[in-house]
Amino acid sequence: PAIELDGVVKEYIAHGEVVQAVKGVSLAITEGEFFSMLGPSGCGKTTTMRMIAGFEDPSRGTVRLHGQDVTDVPPNKRDVNMVFQSYALFPHMNVWENVAFGLRRKRVSDQDIKRRVGEMLEIVDLTGREKRRPREMSGGQQQRVALARALVNHPRALLLDEPLGALDLKLRQAMQIELKRIQREVGITFVYVTHDQNEALTMSDRIAVMNDGLVEQLAGPREIYERPATKFVAGFIGTSNLLNGTVDQVGDGTATLRFGEGGRVLVPVNGASPGGEVEVTVRPEKIKISAEEPPADVSAVRGTVAEVVYLGTYNTYSVDLAGGTEFTVFEQNARDSSITAERGDSVWLWWQPQHSY
Ligand code: ADP
Ligand code: MG
Repeated sequence: PAIELDGVVKEYIAHGEVVQAVKGVSLAITEGEFFSMLGPSGCGKTTTMRMIAGFEDPSRGTVRLHGQDVTDVPPNKRDVNMVFQSYALFPHMNVWENVAFGLRRKRVSDQDIKRRVGEMLEIVDLTGREKRRPREMSGGQQQRVALARALVNHPRALLLDEPLGALDLKLRQAMQIELKRIQREVGITFVYVTHDQNEALTMSDRIAVMNDGLVEQLAGPREIYERPATKFVAGFIGTSNLLNGTVDQVGDGTATLRFGEGGRVLVPVNGASPGGEVEVTVRPEKIKISAEEPPADVSAVRGTVAEVVYLGTYNTYSVDLAGGTEFTVFEQNARDSSITAERGDSVWLWWQPQHSY
């Protein structure tokens, strides 16, 4: 692995009290991977990142880079660079000088500086803008200068802490694709911190979802979305429906729950036993809505449509189920744009068993 954290804890003393910003994080990031740390504000992402970079010392635990224990190694002796949301460019230097700065200080030859800066500006698509000052550039361009500056001395890993946070949505989305391309092109490990789930899902090979100083799930984007490991992950990533039911029958890898009048939900057994209470999660786009009773081999519950919202490419239904449970259903708009159900209709909601967990 390129980066390993082993039982890393960070405590601060604030107003005479101990605050645990990071409560015990262990993870291994593979060489060449686009790895994201995703979680709400205050969950410990920046603190974790700063311990990888060496700007903070862990209170407990070990940080290893490329197999070497660097827990006590200062930041400038670690083979990683960091990019911040506030680009931190030198305002009085032009693009070329900003990118060349680190190489100059290391006394790299003029010829090598010329080659490497030229190469980097090409990669971040800024060739021809060498003479511009930061204030003469857009936010996206400034961020690309910061990226070139962080990559020009060929670190083995790049740490990025919410680097697109200051950009507007359109530009941010364009930069997400750009960043992924740059990472592929330079082939080094990227560790990316964000609180934006779409950003993490778009770019990452793997994502560590953090909450309250701990990693709740570490997996690929698809698995995180399709199989959230905890209720927190299910709620934080995308929209989820939750329902509580009692296990009625267990057999053949599947447990069946009764829910409301005529409703049944099929879930993987996972230790469920008859009479046990379980909580089931279903994504809104996995659910179909129909007036007729669905086939017996799917999960199906009855409800009343409380609200229909037409959103162009899809419709959203709010459906009241038994016992005060509310479900949201997303329906892709078909060619004829017909709405399947109206407010007040009594409907069945159904989905394939593999889509609930
Ligand atoms: P994130 O980057 O996920 O928003 P941070 O790592 O910045 O979260 O912070 C995690 C927690 O640690 C927060 O509750 C924050 O207030 C606290 N914290 C961070 N740095 C310090 C510090 N220097 N002193 C005291 N508390 C801190
Ligand atoms: Mg932060």
